[in-house]
Parts: sequence; C-alpha cells; structure tokens
Amino acid sequence: MHVHDDVFIGGRWVRSASSARIEVLNPATEEAWASVPDGDEHDIDQAVRAARSAFPAWSATSPADRAAVLHRLADELDARAAAMSRIITTENGTPIAESGAAPGHSAAHLRLTADLAGLLDSVDDRPNPMAPGHTVVRRVPVGVAGLITPWNFPLGLIIIKLGPALLAGCTVVIKPAPETPMAMRALMDAVAAAGVPDGVVNLVTGATDAGTALVGHPDVDKISFTGSTNVGRIIARTCGERLRPVTLELGGKSPAIVLDDFDREMFTRNLLRVSMRNTGQTCKACTRLLVPAHRHDEIATLAGEIVSAAPMGDPFDPATFFGPVVSARQRDRVAGYLNAGHAEGATSVTGGDVSTRFDRGFYIEPTVFSHVTPQMTIAREEIFGPVLSVIPYHDIDDAVAIANDSPYGLAATVFGTDETRATAVAERLATGNVGINHYGSNAAAPFGGHKDSGLGTEFAAEGLDAYLQFTSIHYQS
Ligand code: ADP
Repeated sequence: MHVHDDVFIGGRWVRSASSARIEVLNPATEEAWASVPDGDEHDIDQAVRAARSAFPAWSATSPADRAAVLHRLADELDARAAAMSRIITTENGTPIAESGAAPGHSAAHLRLTADLAGLLDSVDDRPNPMAPGHTVVRRVPVGVAGLITPWNFPLGLIIIKLGPALLAGCTVVIKPAPETPMAMRALMDAVAAAGVPDGVVNLVTGATDAGTALVGHPDVDKISFTGSTNVGRIIARTCGERLRPVTLELGGKSPAIVLDDFDREMFTRNLLRVSMRNTGQTCKACTRLLVPAHRHDEIATLAGEIVSAAPMGDPFDPATFFGPVVSARQRDRVAGYLNAGHAEGATSVTGGDVSTRFDRGFYIEPTVFSHVTPQMTIAREEIFGPVLSVIPYHDIDDAVAIANDSPYGLAATVFGTDETRATAVAERLATGNVGINHYGSNAAAPFGGHKDSGLGTEFAAEGLDAYLQFTSIHYQS
C-alpha cells in the first residue's frame, strides 16, 4: 500500500492541508493499493497561489523555450513509459495493450504541440483600414488554468490540456479524478525531472470539493474540463458567473452507421475499438450500431461473434481486450443499464449481465443487445461500459435521423466501402468527429463535441487558442 499525504505545489511535494484521504482501488482485484489526500480548498488555494506567482516569469519565456520544456517532458514520459503504464492499469483496470501505448502517445502529443510554437512567434501587424495607423495583435496566455479530468484515460486526457496550456504560457493546477490520482503523481515526478520551473504545474488530488474549489477560485482564469455532461453544466454555470472561459469535453452517445455496402473484414477489424475501447469507458465510444433493417439479424450476430471472441480478464495480460470497469459504482451503473435493456425488450446476443467468471474484480460481460429501438434507455443514455445496442434503420434518411436524435454530438463512425457515399452520410451527422470505417482520431485536427457533448475544442492550433486571448496595441500615424 502506497500511502501519501502530500500534494505537488510550487515544484515540491508538500503536506496536504486536508486530513481526509482517498483510497485508490485496483479494479481487477478490488484491493486498495494506494491512498492520497482528498484535497480541500486550502490545498487548492495554495496551488493557485503557486501557479499565480510562477505565471509572470513563465509567460515571459519565449515560445521556443516553452516548446523545449515540452520536448523534455515528452522524453521523461518515454523514459518512464513502462512504469506509468503499469500505474494506469493498476488504478484504472485499463488493459495493458491500451495503457502500454499511453505514455508514448502522450509524448508524441506533447511534441506535436511543441511544433505549434511558431504560431506564437509571428508578429501580427495590421493596417487600420478606417483611420491612419496600424495595430499589433498580440496573443497572450489567459493566465492560471485549472485542468480537471475523469478516470478513463488518466494520463492522456491531462496531457492534451497540459501541452497547449504550457505552450501558450499558462501555469496550471491539475485536479485528477479521485479514482485515478496515481498516474498524475507519477507525471509530477516527470514534470520535476524535465525542469519545468517551480509552480508552473501543480497537482491537488481530491474529489468534488477540490474540483469545486478550483472552478470557483477567484484567481483562476480558465477551466478546461473533461467529464460528464452534468458536472460540465455545473462548471459552466460557475464560469459563467465568474465570466471566465471554459472548455468542456463531455459525454456522448455516438452512433456507428453500417451502410449496406460495408466491408465485412474492415468492420470485424475495427468494431471493438470503435464501440468498446477501454472496456467501453471512452467518451467517443460508438455504442449505437445502426444497421439496415433487412440485415439486422446477420449484423447483430456478427457483432456478437466479434465481441464474444475478444478476451476478457487480467488487464495485465497483453491479450486482454476487456478488463474490469473502474469501480463498483461504475459496475452497478452499467448493470442498471443492462437491466433496463432487458426490461424494455432488447435481446442480448451476447453477455447481458455482470460477470461471474472471476472471484474478484468489477467485471461486466461484454454485451451486444439487438432489436433495440431509438427510444430505449440503452439507446439514449451514455452507459460507459461494454454495451453495444443494435438498432435497425429503413433507409439512409432514417439512419441519419436516428443518429442525430440525441442530445449528444461527440462522435460517429460510418462503415461503408464507397467512400463518397460514406462521406455524404458523415456530412449529415451533427457531431464533432466522424470516423470513416474506423475509430477516427487525429491529434492534428480539432477535437470537440457539438450540442450537450461540449464547448470548445482541443488538439492542434484550435486547441492552443483555448489558452490564449488577444491584446491589440493600436498605433496612430
Ligand atoms: P465521472 O462520472 O466519469 O466520474 P464526473 O464528471 O463526475 O465524471 O467527474 C469528472 C471530474 O470532475 C472528476 O475529477 C471529479 O472529481 C470532478 N468533479 C466532480 N464534480 C465536480 C464539480 N462540481 N466541480 C468541479 N469538478 C468536479
């Protein structure tokens, strides 16, 4: 058991002001393996003060210097990759095949972000078309940014915020999910080893109270949040009251539309990642499989075969695709949806219950429901577990209507051999991302949700903008 009583503030591990602790469980064994401070508003206040005092010097460094720091941090992640992957799998139950790639992927993300430094260097000098004179438009960092994340990708979801925040010249306070604080503790060691100046990156572990204190702190200039739509609304309310910018990456109920010319081999290869990556605990998971009605049974059977063939078990086994879900609470939530599916008349092609295969661990039998109607609870609400719903459609218009009939608009997939036809369907979907025949992700393209799936954008130049504001300096001639 790793017992910690400290938080990372001002470049050092300091004792938390809070005496409350959070136990970190291994979801595969149900054992507590670590405990960390359940940080309070005093910790948050200290962390924000440290970030504030580090801000003038950090924001005065050149973009090239900050890019160099991101490169060093990327190198530290690469050097610590194996240990960090093990932490992610231990605290989150993420199959090692997935978590093993996370540090390298995060390092690559940081390097790509560093490559954007040139965008901050160029002098933007504009003539005034309405009066004699010109204006120099400066892009300046918003200030102290609060970064709040959920448990499903403990490292990656912070890195995609941290990289652009630091490059922009912001200093940050990180508040990770209470279920997965340990990867963030390891990240702070990497931050220190990379020579990030003291106070530029601070970490307070904790739960709702720490998050609330961070969002409401009068000296925090920006919040970037990934998590549930409900909490996103609460955070947006506070940021609205405080008139501070907020970026929100929220929930989804994404569709995968199977066109009648779909490539069976491609579908078989990509369905699991599209719909059940990370044991279904992925905001982008396409959990509504929309299929031509006349081929419903055939495709539902195929999906059932693909899902039941994927190995479930020890997340440390490299062959494992399905691990446990993160917590007993999450298992019970997913079980509630499975019950709703049965009660509302869906048919389970495979799975359909919590798993009794193992003595321990928060396992759900990976489930495919067929004969799902768009009105059923399992077709409307985000489940965040390995549950796929097969929904028949009559024609393309019907498929698009069902796909768009959701308060969410995060992602979608279109399976179809004719790319022009698949693209025409993709263009009618009210979502921030559409993968053609695959999961669809590109760090060089904007990522963000429409409708209740979020506000604002991450990744690439557009994601960097989220940490910048303008100062226009006007000259008269
Ligand atoms: P999940 O349901 O996946 O746990 P949540 O949206 O509940 O997602 O939590 C995501 C993150 O937001 C976590 O770090 C959590 O501690 C934090 N959080 C929860 N409630 C609040 C709140 N009211 N204000 C700020 N942060 C919060």
